[in-house]
Amino acid sequence: MHVDARTLPDDSLIEGDLCIVGAGAAGISLALEFRNSGYKVLLLEGGGFEYDDRVQQLYDGKTTGQPYYPLKSSELHYFGGTTGHWAGMCSIFDPIVFQNRPWVEHSGWPITQATVLPYYDRAWPILDLQSREFDLGYWQKRDPSLVPLPFDDDVFWTKVWQFSAPTRFGQKYKEAVVTAPDIHLYTYANVVDLAGNEGLSAIREVTVKNYAGKTHKVRARHFVLACAGIQNARVLLAANKQASAGLGNDHDLVGRFFMEHLEIKSAELWLEQKTDLKLYMAAAPRVQGELALRPGQQARHGVLNGIVSFTPLQVAERMPPFIEVWSDTDPRVNEEQVRQAQSKARGTRVGHFFDVLRTGEIHGAHRAFQMILRLEQAPNPDSRVTLAQEKDELGVPRAELNWTFTKLERQSIRKIYEIVGQQAGAAGLGRVKLKDDLAEDGVEGLPASTSAGWHHMGTTRMSDDPKTGVVDANCQVHGIQNLFVAGSSVFPTGSAVNPTFTIVALALRLADHLKAKLAATS
Ligand SMILES: Cc1cc2nc3c(=O)[nH]c(=O)nc-3n(C[C@H](O)[C@H](O)[C@H](O)COP(=O)(O)OP(=O)(O)OC[C@H]3O[C@@H](n4cnc5c(N)ncnc54)[C@H](O)[C@@H]3O)c2cc1C
Repeated sequence: MHVDARTLPDDSLIEGDLCIVGAGAAGISLALEFRNSGYKVLLLEGGGFEYDDRVQQLYDGKTTGQPYYPLKSSELHYFGGTTGHWAGMCSIFDPIVFQNRPWVEHSGWPITQATVLPYYDRAWPILDLQSREFDLGYWQKRDPSLVPLPFDDDVFWTKVWQFSAPTRFGQKYKEAVVTAPDIHLYTYANVVDLAGNEGLSAIREVTVKNYAGKTHKVRARHFVLACAGIQNARVLLAANKQASAGLGNDHDLVGRFFMEHLEIKSAELWLEQKTDLKLYMAAAPRVQGELALRPGQQARHGVLNGIVSFTPLQVAERMPPFIEVWSDTDPRVNEEQVRQAQSKARGTRVGHFFDVLRTGEIHGAHRAFQMILRLEQAPNPDSRVTLAQEKDELGVPRAELNWTFTKLERQSIRKIYEIVGQQAGAAGLGRVKLKDDLAEDGVEGLPASTSAGWHHMGTTRMSDDPKTGVVDANCQVHGIQNLFVAGSSVFPTGSAVNPTFTIVALALRLADHLKAKLAATS
């Protein structure tokens, strides 16, 4: 069922069993798990079915620290969320990502990879991946020409990506959502406040508003915030009538530990002989390999989780960093600019977004490759989302992002490139050349080539201890028994790979948990 909340009488009361705020990858995956469950699920979406600049404007905010994409255009604010223009790159988080690594301060999840694996197994069809398999051997059986670089197996292994279509949740799942009898979708229902009971041990209701000037109240037994990485923190911080620091923020953690995936283009691989490096070029249909350091090597060198991909230098040199192309506050303009820049770099017609990774148009033998290092960011309490003084049109303080780093990022970048260089030399393959922005000693900060992946993580991090995390292992906000968070804001560390596959997997896990909770109290 679908209701446009602008058409309801002002001050309506909406009631159900479960209220999910946000209809993006997380919110839609979660809601669809409740089809035929017998529970009344309220799915509140701030936007409509199409892009609306006035709604998108609610995401606008201020950035300080490391230059970042305009907040207004780094996520999408309508049904389907940011999957409206995601690129579809998917892989699993490795076991080491979940571990407490002594050399990475604040690392460690309260769950292991084994906890998430069964949910990856349920998530891959939702994202239209080809297979549950991320093991190189599986893909080599289908295409024996997918051969990794001849590096020491104890040092590097091949991390496999699969590419989603990319699945646009707003298009693919609209029909399923609006026709499901158990799911009640309300569009133009922007959550602006949450109110708890007297002791703030449970949420009683949320307030939704829209540009039609309507305000409604929504009550449910359980609430889930699935508003994406920056907005989840913003909603909690802005709900500060009963707790001045915001909800779930007794230990000043909400909004802290903001993490992105860094993309660094500061080294080149020069080979003795021309090679096509087919495995690394998304050569097989919708599959690509990247060089990944073995866990023991990460520990030995004290580096963050990072993986390396290769792009022929003659293409890469013509491609500006995303951060330069993505400078407009209208996300649609940005997407078009990226397409244009990539097509220009390849010397091909303007194609689909990011199809440089998938079409095979850049294949062929080359001597020189740019090495793109994708690196997790070290969890850092000073890298944070706070509330700005300025308010949006619905009266909610805007988000302010101060994106900062530790010294570990630059050290890891340099070390990982160096290890690739050592391996290339030892194999008699060629050599690695560091670019000037990284080669200089004694320099701090990130190389000038650094971009980021539009992945917003860590702002409501998961921990068993309320002093070190906002949500517990079940994604429940500590101390508030019926409030949960879905999305990458719960990640304590971000891994080197993109987040959406893990976001969907964790949303499915949360659905199981909520079903059990609802059943226990029915
Ligand atoms: C250009 C680009 C490329 C990307 N490529 C990849 C990729 O290749 N691989 C990958 O894994 N990830 C990629 N991502 C990231 C991916 O899009 C996100 O990880 C994913 O969409 C997050 O899902 P989510 O449900 O947490 O948030 P979203 O999909 O953003 O959904 C959040 C939803 O909440 C709604 N909402 C927000 N605030 C409120 C409120 N107050 N009240 C009601 N509703 C609200 C929004 O309108 C939206 O529908 C990319 C992102 C961008 C921008």
